[in-house]
Amino acid sequence: MKICPFCTKKITDYYLETNNFAVIYNISPILPGHSLIIPKKHQESLFELTHDELAEFMELGRTAAELLCKVFETNGFNWAIQEREVAGQSVAHLHMHIVPRKIGDMINPGDWYQRLEKIESGDIDTYERFRLSKEMLDNLTEKMKKAAIKFGYRYE
Ligand SMILES: [Zn+2]
Repeated sequence: MKICPFCTKKITDYYLETNNFAVIYNISPILPGHSLIIPKKHQESLFELTHDELAEFMELGRTAAELLCKVFETNGFNWAIQEREVAGQSVAHLHMHIVPRKIGDMINPGDWYQRLEKIESGDIDTYERFRLSKEMLDNLTEKMKKAAIKFGYRYE
């Protein structure tokens, strides 16, 4: 059986969380800050969420977007869900991408989606190039945790 990379995430990998959802830093960021909102338990589809869970998921997404905008000093971001393989979903565990955007971060601002597709489709070359080491990923997660505390989104 294929191991789900999101089910193996630990609580220390979460930089923000609610009861049922968590925010993690993407191991293959297309731009700095690229994060994912995931259900803590294995759920594949947006349609599996109850009304309350959907609200919790979207609220956490917005909170993460707000925090990322503060950290990366911007007011722009992209967010995306790829539902099922036909739409480019590579990991069969629901995840919403959030990418903070800055002026000039890409020649054409709309190119972010193509980059996302390349990474999601497992294009070996691209995927390898953009994949963070465990140490880098842990460091970025720590930075986001500290920022979350600083801006009042996390208490500890
Ligand atoms: Zn999973």
